[in-house]
Amino acid sequence: MDCLFCKIVNREIPADIVYEDDEVLAFNDLNPQAPTHILIIPKRHIATLNDLTEADQALVGRLPYVAARLARERGFAEDGYRVVMNCNDQGGQTVYHIHMHLMGGRRFTWPAG
Ligand code: 5GP
Ligand code: ZN
Repeated sequence: MDCLFCKIVNREIPADIVYEDDEVLAFNDLNPQAPTHILIIPKRHIATLNDLTEADQALVGRLPYVAARLARERGFAEDGYRVVMNCNDQGGQTVYHIHMHLMGGRRFTWPAG
């Protein structure tokens, strides 16, 4: 399958991996938008949030759990951080393998930036 993040899971292309378990992989974003910018993905290919099934709920629930754990490890959990999941074109999704962005180490504004 021609999916960038599946290739990272399969070690076909390199990434700076910061967390791994049986179901989830996390690695630094190539183009960071914050001092910490990590992408947290299920190892199994799911293209978009729209493709989730009821059976995927526990798996996807791991993503914010891992995000919070990584935020705690990096010391900005209490200050605060942002998690984002983009869906499809208008949502700003560019890689079609679902991922949660974890960004921390600076102040964020809402709704943009
Ligand atoms: P999206 O726009 O789909 O929500 O986020 C995709 C993210 O993947 C972007 O933040 C982009 O910088 C990151 N990205 C794209 N290609 C690569 C890559 O080859 N390696 C890594 N580590 N990140 C990538
Ligand atoms: Zn994939």
